[in-house]
Amino acid sequence: MNDNYSIIILGAGLTGLTAAFHLVKRGKKVLILEKNDRIGGQIRTLEKNGFVFETGPNTGTVSHPEVAELFAALSPACELENADENAKHRLIWKGDRFRELPGGLLSGVTTPIITWKDKFRILGEPFCPKGTNPDESVAGLALRRLGKSYLDYCVDPFISGIYAGDPARLLTRYALPKLYRLEQTYGSFIKGAVAKAFEPKTERDRLATKKIFSARGGLSNLTAALADAVGRENITLSVSSVKIQPVENHWQVAFSTPEGEKIVQAEKVITTVSAHVLRDILPFIEPSEMNKITGLRYARIVQVAVGVKDTCGLRFNAFGGLIPSCEQKDLLGILFPAACFSGRAPEKGMAFSFFIGGMKAERLTELPDKEIENLVVREFHEMLKFPAHIEPDMIHIARHTHAIPQYEKSTGERLEVIEKLQNRYPGLILAGNIRDGISMADRILQGTKIAGKL
Ligand SMILES: Cc1cc2nc3c(=O)[nH]c(=O)nc-3n(C[C@H](O)[C@H](O)[C@H](O)COP(=O)(O)OP(=O)(O)OC[C@H]3O[C@@H](n4cnc5c(N)ncnc54)[C@H](O)[C@@H]3O)c2cc1C
Repeated sequence: MNDNYSIIILGAGLTGLTAAFHLVKRGKKVLILEKNDRIGGQIRTLEKNGFVFETGPNTGTVSHPEVAELFAALSPACELENADENAKHRLIWKGDRFRELPGGLLSGVTTPIITWKDKFRILGEPFCPKGTNPDESVAGLALRRLGKSYLDYCVDPFISGIYAGDPARLLTRYALPKLYRLEQTYGSFIKGAVAKAFEPKTERDRLATKKIFSARGGLSNLTAALADAVGRENITLSVSSVKIQPVENHWQVAFSTPEGEKIVQAEKVITTVSAHVLRDILPFIEPSEMNKITGLRYARIVQVAVGVKDTCGLRFNAFGGLIPSCEQKDLLGILFPAACFSGRAPEKGMAFSFFIGGMKAERLTELPDKEIENLVVREFHEMLKFPAHIEPDMIHIARHTHAIPQYEKSTGERLEVIEKLQNRYPGLILAGNIRDGISMADRILQGTKIAGKL
């Protein structure tokens, strides 16, 4: 076997696999090195007792044309599945039950989750001056433009749903860049949304449907199809002790596998691993610079898949429900994937994903499995209103210690140092969700763009 590659990619998650897919299509010789004994990274679909469920991301949004194009290129090995109409209904917990998030003008006026004061105040949003602090937090922006009840009952749960984060610490510029640009460009969210709706769109722009997606049969089918297209022989699993070094005009990568030690060479190296891993694998980078990358904080999350074979007529026709932190519950939210995608639960049953932890309730992620299970069963009855005689038929606990990176104040200097290092060491590409967005769509976009530039 020739041990010289065009590109070595660290990590067989969605970013690494997408980049490899496009590079292999362009005839590049690629090797992916993966620590785990499976591909997929955070994406993992499991089957248990007749339920098909995700232990990582549940759904994505087709927010970039590259997402639709990737699925089209993989078809028929993997099929994009758009969520059905139920996904349009979003719930927010207030008081003693989930209530529908307003989707239109009338429901916006009548909803009990927003105060009358803020309902009137929103009429003045187009006239509210635009922000001048580039380091304004998401909470600061929401309070300034929308009001406290919007912050508490819309923005806070929305941020829990995406970042499992704290809106007071996430910076809008990095965490919600589209929203930041909307205010900076149009001076108002409402004016910006109206202007955007009338902007001309190309055929390709329209591929970004903004619809909620999964892969038919679960998201692991997406990463499996990518790995097959890349060629499983080009992916080495179960690697450890990876060390990357610049050597003259190429890169040397040393690593261990269960079969022994290896050293390979490449013209370029792409890392897609989390920030905390980089220190060990890039030993030639000065600690003062590396610290600016590893300062990135991650939300810890426990995700619990819950299945019930017969709901006895209880219906859950929605995407799921989010829980504002001011409501003081022990959950971030509950998704209803079986209400939106086919084949996730038996015909009369339902599958749920309970999310626990995040930046505001990290201590809950330390609970042992039995207490997590008790908590989930309690909320299964209290929040989902299952009567006492119905118990879950399946519970699966997945723990994520580095689930979602938090694009907080440290982001500016992290991005600066990444740029500097990439300029100083040509052929080194520091990618993954340490930059460019945390969603699956962002990962597909980044992997595609990087491959396009090489
Ligand atoms: C619980 C949870 C829920 C989420 N929900 C959503 C959602 O609803 N919608 C959405 O769009 N996104 C969601 N996300 C985010 C989404 O899952 C990620 O953005 C995406 O999967 C990350 O892909 P990646 O390839 O960048 O990173 P990863 O999937 O983390 O892949 C990195 C890979 O690198 C490997 N690796 C680590 N260290 C080494 C090493 N030393 N050597 C070699 N390999 C190494 C890892 O094992 C891993 O396979 C969620 C994430 C989590 C954890």
